[in-house]
Amino acid sequence: MISQDVVLVRYGEITLKDKWTRQNWERILAGNIAFSLGKAGLEHKVTRGEGRIFIQTPDPRASEIAARVFGVVSTSPARAVAPDLKEICQAAVEMALKAGPATFAIRPRRSGISISSEEIGRVVGDAVRKMTGASVDLEEPELEIFVEARRESAYIFTQVVKGMGGLPLGSQGKMLALVSGGIDSPVAAWMMMKRGCPVSLLHFDSRPYADALKPSLQSAKVLAGWTSGRKIDFIEVPIGRGIEKISSHYPRATCVLCRRLMYWIAAEVMEMEAALGIVTGYSMGQVASQTAENILAEQAAMGMPVFHPLIAMDKAEIMDLARKIGTYEVTEETKSCTAVPKKPMTKARRHEILAMEEELGLRDMARALAKEMKVTRI
Ligand code: ATP
Ligand code: MG
Repeated sequence: MISQDVVLVRYGEITLKDKWTRQNWERILAGNIAFSLGKAGLEHKVTRGEGRIFIQTPDPRASEIAARVFGVVSTSPARAVAPDLKEICQAAVEMALKAGPATFAIRPRRSGISISSEEIGRVVGDAVRKMTGASVDLEEPELEIFVEARRESAYIFTQVVKGMGGLPLGSQGKMLALVSGGIDSPVAAWMMMKRGCPVSLLHFDSRPYADALKPSLQSAKVLAGWTSGRKIDFIEVPIGRGIEKISSHYPRATCVLCRRLMYWIAAEVMEMEAALGIVTGYSMGQVASQTAENILAEQAAMGMPVFHPLIAMDKAEIMDLARKIGTYEVTEETKSCTAVPKKPMTKARRHEILAMEEELGLRDMARALAKEMKVTRI
């Protein structure tokens, strides 16, 4: 491990924004990074420079921790020296001696100083070659030594840790994500978090038809580990009575109508949570009920945005992501709902569904059930 005194943090899309937005989002990102480091017990100081965030810390865990913060593209543990060639050479030679490669390449970059990148590459390369006996290979070197020379300091590093990407959590509006206890829905919530949206989580307690309260709560706890310190509202609403009424009147349309009931309840909860949209774990065609026809009928005449961030992802991709997020282990064992008919509707007709909804008074039912909501801060 090469000794570091600073970690360079790179971010992507933020740099494309106008000055005001950029400064605002950089501040949010720096705050999120500082919180995550503090929570892990690292001594640190986070500062902002042009197009970069810097973490002053000797702790080798800092680059990995920062790389998991949404909005971070990559991080590098680095040595900071004065921006002059002699000091840069010395640091680069030290790193090369520690790593002991047969071949190496210098990858120079500069901004705001008069030395050219070409000159840095040549002078530092010569020094490393002479002092270590390694030879230069620009195509496939064993060791890459990056030099980023800036006005205030030069940073020398050999490692680039890939970050999560996305936007800083808190830079976008809040979402109400529907979590079922299954594998997909927490991944969907996470995807919106990655895109900057804080979330509240809504679980419909479908007892006696299904019982997935425990895995949903567990998934909420895992998601709360990704918020850089923000608390998550976990909301439960019982819908067993609603399912009973729906399935006894329109058994074949149970799932579609149940989904409309869920959305109407979610619309009520959204108001209370000041959320701006609803999120589900739908993936096109993954199960019989997730068809384009059903989505059309389920969302017809609703008026609030429903986001399906997994819609074009394959099950295998979703599962991989669930493992990476940490929700896979807590959600895989859910049983299916016993109210699902033998032959569920796959090609719902929206006018028929709307008429059934009217007949059953689903909106009033939703308002009544939403009043029974229970909120836990996680
Ligand atoms: P998941 O793996 O998330 O359960 P799924 O592929 O099993 O998804 P469905 O059970 O058809 O699909 O549910 C589709 C989506 O509807 C879920 O991803 C979730 O967003 C929402 N949903 C379903 N059941 C519930 C529930 N009991 N509480 C909250 N949301 C639910
Ligand atoms: Mg499910």
